[in-house]
Amino acid sequence: MAQRFRPVTEPDTQQPGRPVPARSTGTGDPGPEGRHGASRDWADAAGNESPAASVRGFSKAFGSRVVLSGLDLDIAPGEFVAMIGRSGSGKSTLLRALAGLDGDYDGSLSVRGPVAVAFQEPRLVPWKKVLANVALGLRVRSPQSVASQALDEVGLAERAGAWPLTLSGGEAQRASLARALVREPSLLLLDEPFSALDALTRMTMHRLVLSLWSRHKPAVLLVTHDVDEALALADRVLVLGDGRIAHSARIPMDRPRDRDHPDLVALRLQLLTELGVPAESAF
Ligand code: ADP
Ligand code: MG
Repeated sequence: MAQRFRPVTEPDTQQPGRPVPARSTGTGDPGPEGRHGASRDWADAAGNESPAASVRGFSKAFGSRVVLSGLDLDIAPGEFVAMIGRSGSGKSTLLRALAGLDGDYDGSLSVRGPVAVAFQEPRLVPWKKVLANVALGLRVRSPQSVASQALDEVGLAERAGAWPLTLSGGEAQRASLARALVREPSLLLLDEPFSALDALTRMTMHRLVLSLWSRHKPAVLLVTHDVDEALALADRVLVLGDGRIAHSARIPMDRPRDRDHPDLVALRLQLLTELGVPAESAF
């Protein structure tokens, strides 16, 4: 039975015009542990657990074009966060920085523990078989057996010996998820991983991601342009706009969720309005 809830605007929603904090660690030396060395303890005086990811005053420009400006965000351990925003609003830019793929920014990022990313394109190495792709770069005693177990978890065990180019879109994304899983991430970054899949496969992938998440409990930051995907999966939905978190709504509702639940219908409309989509096109 789904719980009743009221979408709420979260305290980390940022108001336009808020100044960017002065501290800047983005262009500095990441140090021996790397930018994500994660040695800092984020637990507060009340003993609350430290965030899986913490972003403060994050700003990023490409030339004179400012994409993100003074963005703040905390993601709790095991929390499933979805981020929506118009194309070009800077979602991938933030994800790339959290993944440690782009260190040229202002502000600070802190990520606790290993991070793994899955992109819209599965990015499998075509000349390595599926199992070898999942095991690639793994620094454990028996990478093949760890990879094989991950493939089993995503329902792809029988394709372990296949070449990536022979996989369907859904299978390739399963392989990509397995490759992320074997890293046992405490933060899993997903950049529109299902947007190229057909509707049926996408729904199957949603179930798979939820079951993997409930078993492994990483914090997740899922970027999606699909409001319904965000509503189906996330504990919290963020709207990125004007370079920062423009809106944040919590969804304390059991999964699987009924997309026609009146509260979800109301929240869908609210999020579409935040995105600037006219209400009449929501149906
Ligand atoms: P989103 O993922 O929200 O669609 P991105 O984060 O990919 O948006 O990009 C945000 C903006 O930054 C876009 O205008 C994009 O063109 C620009 N941008 C992204 N990467 C680069 C780059 N390497 N060089 C120049 N501009 C870039
Ligand atoms: Mg993107």
